[in-house]
Amino acid sequence: MAFELTVEPIEESVDVADGQTLLDACLRAGVWLPHACGHGLCGTCKVEVLDGEVDHGEASPFALMDFERDEGWTLACSATARTDVCIEADIDEEPDAVVRPVRDFEGTVSRLEHLTSDILGIWITVDDPVEFQAGQYLNLHVPGVERPRAFSFANDPGDAHEVQLQVRLVPDGEATPKLHTELKVGDTLKFAGPYDRFFVRRSHDKPMLFLAGGSGLSSPKSMVEELLRTGCEQEITLIHGVRSADDVYFDDLFRSLEEQHPNFRYVPALSQPDDTPWEGETGFVHEVAERLFDGSFKGMSAYLCGPPVMIDACIRSLMKGRLFERDIFTEKFVTEADGESAKSPLFKRI
Ligand SMILES: Cc1cc2nc3c(=O)[nH]c(=O)nc-3n(C[C@H](O)[C@H](O)[C@H](O)COP(=O)(O)OP(=O)(O)OC[C@H]3O[C@@H](n4cnc5c(N)ncnc54)[C@H](O)[C@@H]3O)c2cc1C
Repeated sequence: MAFELTVEPIEESVDVADGQTLLDACLRAGVWLPHACGHGLCGTCKVEVLDGEVDHGEASPFALMDFERDEGWTLACSATARTDVCIEADIDEEPDAVVRPVRDFEGTVSRLEHLTSDILGIWITVDDPVEFQAGQYLNLHVPGVERPRAFSFANDPGDAHEVQLQVRLVPDGEATPKLHTELKVGDTLKFAGPYDRFFVRRSHDKPMLFLAGGSGLSSPKSMVEELLRTGCEQEITLIHGVRSADDVYFDDLFRSLEEQHPNFRYVPALSQPDDTPWEGETGFVHEVAERLFDGSFKGMSAYLCGPPVMIDACIRSLMKGRLFERDIFTEKFVTEADGESAKSPLFKRI
């Protein structure tokens, strides 16, 4: 049974199937709604129900508080329709956005490589081209795991037939240990995407700063590779924060890009250097960024990708250095472990 979902103020209507979330129905119909974690954790997709009845599903009580439920708010990523529904969403104009309906894909694992002791590179060959904006993510169905898991596209979108992922092992997790130990070349994987609005605002025409933590290098890698391939002439700095020298990966790739493109600077940084000889930067990503730019980020655009704690520290440094919210874009790898802190007190979105 399908209900009609109307989205205000854009006056779009889509069908929503029984049990389908409001967000899924919209994204698959090419109607964009703000969203991020996709699992009721972060609150980015909060919308007001103007008319009709919804089931809030598994929305976290931190991301959707009791009083908000009483006042008629819901999380589009978790809510399903019980009747025809009309919602109001806060949809910003985004001149750089390319709206692509979310679709289902199936591909074959063509390569697996342990990039570090806890990050697995997965390459998936697909017949059907996967079009996305660099920075976006997909929802991967891991065989034997009920709910899909979010992973950012790590490949240049110019190569639409081979999706690349960088998957960090969460030792007590359900899906990532399976991927690290059971996945084989030749296996079939299913996923849906593209999701989210973490992408480069090329119209901003400003020097760009990419701050990545651990496997949060995935999106910035895709974004930087595409920018350089397509002749971007703005200054681009990528700071990749990891714990020790053994955790640095794709170093050769970025050093070679640095040699080919004078406008690109690559800075790996260690937060817990061990005895391995290291002549590069040390400290947390935000500390290194402050040092490199003398604490002033005025006139730049910043793209942050990685765990919430890193993103929040970077946002504080950037804002202290006179960069405003409109020039800071974030992709938080939010998980259930982040609970109450999933919603940044500093930001409206993510
Ligand atoms: C938009 C988005 C993009 C993402 N992109 C990437 C990416 O490119 N590469 C990547 O490696 N990860 C990425 N992540 C994080 C990734 O989705 C999770 O690490 C993954 O879903 C964990 O799955 P699991 O089944 O192994 O763990 P679960 O079974 O879901 O969790 C098991 C336990 O570990 C905790 N946990 C789960 N994930 C983490 C974590 N990351 N850190 C600490 N504790 C955790 C859970 O709260 C729970 O207690 C992204 C997340 C989001 C929201």
